[in-house]
Amino acid sequence: MHRALRTVGSVMGRRHLNICSKPSELIGNTPLMYLDKVTKGLGVKGRLVGKLESLGPCSSVKDRLGMSMLDEAERQGLITPGKTTLIEPTSGNTGIALAFLARERGYKCILTMPETMSVERRLMLITLGAEVVLTPKETAVPGALAKAKEIKEALGEDGFIPQQFENPANPKVHRETTGPEIWRDTDGQIDVFFSGVGTGGTVTGVSQFIKGSKEHGLEPKKADLYTVGVEPQEQMLLTKAKGGEAIGEQGPHKIQGMGAGLVPQVLDLSLIDEVVPIHSEEAMQMCQRIWLEEGLPVGVSAGAIVSAAVKVLSRPEFEGKMGVCIIPSFGERYFTHPMFNDIKEKAEGLKKQPLPEPYDNRDFGFATARG
Ligand code: PMP
Repeated sequence: MHRALRTVGSVMGRRHLNICSKPSELIGNTPLMYLDKVTKGLGVKGRLVGKLESLGPCSSVKDRLGMSMLDEAERQGLITPGKTTLIEPTSGNTGIALAFLARERGYKCILTMPETMSVERRLMLITLGAEVVLTPKETAVPGALAKAKEIKEALGEDGFIPQQFENPANPKVHRETTGPEIWRDTDGQIDVFFSGVGTGGTVTGVSQFIKGSKEHGLEPKKADLYTVGVEPQEQMLLTKAKGGEAIGEQGPHKIQGMGAGLVPQVLDLSLIDEVVPIHSEEAMQMCQRIWLEEGLPVGVSAGAIVSAAVKVLSRPEFEGKMGVCIIPSFGERYFTHPMFNDIKEKAEGLKKQPLPEPYDNRDFGFATARG
């Protein structure tokens, strides 16, 4: 049961309480919001709407994915609560989604990740009862994958790696929930869809639902939906995979969740009409703009996606068109990201201010004047 599907009123003569009983019931049916303030003055000719995946129970688009991968594995009898240990090489939002769902459903959960990942994330995972195994920074994500495989080997049949980059349950959940929600909530008025590409699950699943997919028995709802995939400008693998040229120096980027350094297996590149590269600096600036102009705390990848949307929707052919962009995650998870360096310095450097004198705590019922 999903939150917005619940109805207020009576069911069979009894009052139906709008109270859910577990966190996974809070997944999905995320709201849409016009992003008029952040796009104002930037030459946008259409109108941009954000789909706030940041408002899920663990605050990211990965909540749906975690649920879908576990539902599918349970359906196929691959995992059993109380017996199976879930293992995934991820520091990111997928790890957090798997960790909370593992608690809810009674699985053990081990996340492997390079030692460079922030303490903030380790805290989040450990507090949710997951085990965190660190791997050497020199071996990056492949090292974490090798460690996950080693743990799985040791556990034999009791270990299960969901493998978000290869798991068909990834695009499936977006084809069956995210896409239909966008279609329903825009009353079919969406013209352009913007998504950052990490695993490619979101962009593939949503586009399959709206453009149609023979393979999945889906008639086109709007065959000419224009799908835009966003990738870091420092790592233009999708642009190259589509026959384009990389711009500038290629290397590490700062847009967590996007640009995984490979062309993922679950991504259907043929559904993407255009790949827009966005530099990490530009993503961070736009992210801050979303916080300040809209008053909406979002993660860095939302900055990249909105930047791409502004570029595309500023072209004359998009006059009056509706663009929907994914807002993948909530902003508070990123306070250790370089984006917040200056703000952190400012916050830590704040000095206390003198009170209006005379001041006496006893006026407020305290035992002493001060302290
Ligand atoms: N942004 C963030 C913050 C994410 O965690 C993800 C998921 N990795 C994405 C964007 C991209 O989504 P997808 O994996 O479905 O391509």
